[in-house]
Amino acid sequence: MKPISLCVYCGSRPGVSPVHAEAARSVGHEIGRRGWQLVYGGGRAGLMGVVADAALAAGATVVGVIPTSLMDRELGHIGLTELHVVDTMHQRKTLMAERSDAFLALPGGIGTFEELFEVWTWRQLGYHDKPIGLLNAAGYYDAMLGFLRHSEAQGFMAAEQNALLQVDSDPVALVERLGALAPLATAPDDYRQI
Ligand code: AMP
Repeated sequence: MKPISLCVYCGSRPGVSPVHAEAARSVGHEIGRRGWQLVYGGGRAGLMGVVADAALAAGATVVGVIPTSLMDRELGHIGLTELHVVDTMHQRKTLMAERSDAFLALPGGIGTFEELFEVWTWRQLGYHDKPIGLLNAAGYYDAMLGFLRHSEAQGFMAAEQNALLQVDSDPVALVERLGALAPLATAPDDYRQI
């Protein structure tokens, strides 16, 4: 079976609690241990660097995609298997999605939220049918998950859409679950409509 290519979205900062870097390390390690590929934003800053370095150390191939304008700010990682330097953020996000079989958001800030919600809405609109995970490390996303339930209760979001998001606080269990779901995605990607 073809190795799974997992796209990880995460903070360009490390966060306050060391729990988050530990979770990022664990995800990178799991990707390498399983012989999978990591696709991510291509930087060395914050949790991005942690997940990439852990994946490389565990033997994963790592594909980074970064816009030219962010090479300095996010410290473009020159030790990756592939580093794609693209012109725009839209090219970055499309290439990351095309190269991935599943998506996983770790703790992060608004860049991470945007990437998670975008790939989730792309699924709602039928542009892909790949699994999407949210690592709720140390309850970081509890408040957001509460708001999503509120949105559903208020009739702005279908229960099925909410249920599509695979949520777990345990990195190993979540990577395992995404690996089981990824081969079930059969619809061809069609990001050209976006
Ligand atoms: P943050 O979670 O804010 O630390 O950002 C994490 C990653 O998301 C970084 O690689 C940012 O470059 C990226 N990012 C920031 N803004 C956006 C955006 N509008 N769309 C997609 N990614 C973004």
